[in-house]
Amino acid sequence: MHSESGIKMAGLYVHIPFCGSRCSYCDFFSTLKLADEGQRYVEAIIAEARLRRDELRGEPLRTLYLGGGTPSLLPLPLLSQLVDGLRDALDLTGIEEFTIEANPDDVTPEWCSALPSLGVNRVSMGVQTFEDHILRFIGRRHTAAQVVRAIADLRGVGIDNLSIDLIYGLPGQTPDTWVHTVEQAIALEPSHISAYGLTYEEGTRLWWQRERGEVQEVPEEVCIEMYHELVKRLHDAGFEHYEISNFALPGYHSRHNSSYWDETPYLGLGAAAHSYDGSVRRSNPSSLSAYLDSIAAGEVACVVEELTVWERYDERVMLGLRRKAGVDVETLREDFGDRLARHFVREVRRHVAAGNVRQEGASRYVLTDRGILLSDSVMRDVMWDED
Ligand code: SF4
Repeated sequence: MHSESGIKMAGLYVHIPFCGSRCSYCDFFSTLKLADEGQRYVEAIIAEARLRRDELRGEPLRTLYLGGGTPSLLPLPLLSQLVDGLRDALDLTGIEEFTIEANPDDVTPEWCSALPSLGVNRVSMGVQTFEDHILRFIGRRHTAAQVVRAIADLRGVGIDNLSIDLIYGLPGQTPDTWVHTVEQAIALEPSHISAYGLTYEEGTRLWWQRERGEVQEVPEEVCIEMYHELVKRLHDAGFEHYEISNFALPGYHSRHNSSYWDETPYLGLGAAAHSYDGSVRRSNPSSLSAYLDSIAAGEVACVVEELTVWERYDERVMLGLRRKAGVDVETLREDFGDRLARHFVREVRRHVAAGNVRQEGASRYVLTDRGILLSDSVMRDVMWDED
């Protein structure tokens, strides 16, 4: 994506891998060692920013995202050391959207009042559900009441660009209680809501609980019903469904996440962070000690992967179909040639006939509501199989 001036916009992602406890469904890379390693980690991130600033090739940074893990767990002096260090290492003067992810129980009035001076103007909160017994069961540290208080405190310091993450299909959830969660989220008037279907990732505590028969998975048809309720209620409340899992009030799309979906270059700092410069993907070590050791040795031990034209095509169609913008065949043809564009059209037509995809204008294809629920199979079909 290009800005109006024609300059490519770049995003900066910083991974904070520390959590206060492990949620039972989570397979993200995170660790409980904040007290032991937090200071060294922040210093390593700043050192990495200095080591890698040339990768931005002078492109201005427009978005900054502190994700995790749980960035809100960083003590305020460390958080401000991190932001000051990034500011010294990189040009952050063009940042328009600065998001920090937060757990509701970390959002104290003191924490909130520090955010504006750090430049944070958006907070993304892991709420998941408003049912306290389910929150406890899945190992979240907060309560529904803490969410309400956290949002009020953030608004009190002038931060009203707020995003809420929800999960449907949690054990014990019913369509009625899910609707209650969605309604409560809407009542808090966030500008953005992300909602994900629960997946049982192999090796997580929740996965083992299901293996042992201690947890009943919500049936797929019930999850579909929950998804329909979500889409309907958010639509009625004025939210645009701009990506499969993301909904925003007009003008409040996540600019940072949109840049991933638009293939805008971004730099990712920290353990397990990824970077992309338009053709090469770099992945930092998913181990705190490997990451810290490599930075201490004055290098970033990232795995470098040059994407083939087929892999870039796959990314394009997958990311395109996830979004309301869809996939434009003429742009595909320009960027990847006639053969791949013809492959896409041949495969997508079957899904148009089945009602999973609709054609908009001469050359644009977008998932229908039915297609969103079958998105894995639509994507599998239109992707290129090198074998
Ligand atoms: S707080 Fe987030 S990253 Fe940490 S364990 Fe829970 S879901 Fe995973």
